[in-house]
Amino acid sequence: MNQQDEEAFFERERKRMVDEQLRRRGIHEPRLLKAMLKVPRHRFVPLEHRHLAYVDGPLPIGAGQTISQPYIVALMTQLLLLEGDEKVLEVGTGSGYQAAILGELARVVHTIELHAELAERAHRLLQELGYQNIHVHIGDGSLGLPEFAPYQAIIVTAAAPKAPLALLEQLDEGGRLVIPVGGQWGQMLERWTRHGSQFEQEEFVPVAFVPLRGEAGWKENHWEQE
Ligand code: SAM
Repeated sequence: MNQQDEEAFFERERKRMVDEQLRRRGIHEPRLLKAMLKVPRHRFVPLEHRHLAYVDGPLPIGAGQTISQPYIVALMTQLLLLEGDEKVLEVGTGSGYQAAILGELARVVHTIELHAELAERAHRLLQELGYQNIHVHIGDGSLGLPEFAPYQAIIVTAAAPKAPLALLEQLDEGGRLVIPVGGQWGQMLERWTRHGSQFEQEEFVPVAFVPLRGEAGWKENHWEQE
C-alpha cells in the first residue's frame, strides 16, 4: 500500500470505530465525535501494532504501559464537559493520543508523564501533528501540576487508590476531575465536581487501568498504597 492508500484505509477504519464503538454506545457529543474522527490514532500506536490501532480495546505502547480503548478515551472526555475555552490537565500522557483529543476540544492542555521516554515520544509526535496548545511535562503527576492551576478539567488515565486531594484542590470553581479509582481487580470511573469548598462525586462504569504511581499513587510493582 502506498501512503495515500494507507491514510485512506485508516480513515475508513476511524469512521467505523466512531460508528460502531462510540455512537452505538451512547457517545453523542458532536465536537467529541469530530475529534475522534480526526485524530490519527494509528500514529500513536507502535508500528508492530499499527494494524490494530482501531480495534475495540487498549494496546501496548512500551514501558509496560497502554493506549486506552477508544470508547474509554471518548467516555472520559465526554465526562469532562469541555466547551472549548478550558485549561485541562491530563495525568498519564502515555502515547499522547488522549492529549490530542483534548487538544482538539480545549484551549490549552498540560499533560504529565512519569516515563521520560514515553513523554518525549508523545511530545515529538504532537509537535509533528501541529498541536501547539499541548504542553508535555515529565514527572509525577499524582499531585497535579500546581504551577499552571487552576484547571477547569483534570483527567487521570491511570488507576488511583482514591481521588488525590492535591488534584481536587487544583480544580477551578465548577471544575471536573475524571479519574478511575480502585485497585488491581477493577476500578470505578469517578467524576468529582467542585462547588466552592465542596465536591460532588459521581460514579459511572467499571474500568481496568494500569496503576497510577508516585506520591498519591500505588507502590511500585504493587497495588498497595504507600
Ligand atoms: N492517556 C494515555 C494515552 O492516550 O495513550 C494512556 C495512559 S496509560 C493507560 C497510563 C499512563 O500513566 C502511563 O503512561 C503511565 O506511565 C502514566 N503514569 C502512571 N503514574 C503516573 C504519575 N504518577 N504521573 C504521571 N504519569 C503517570
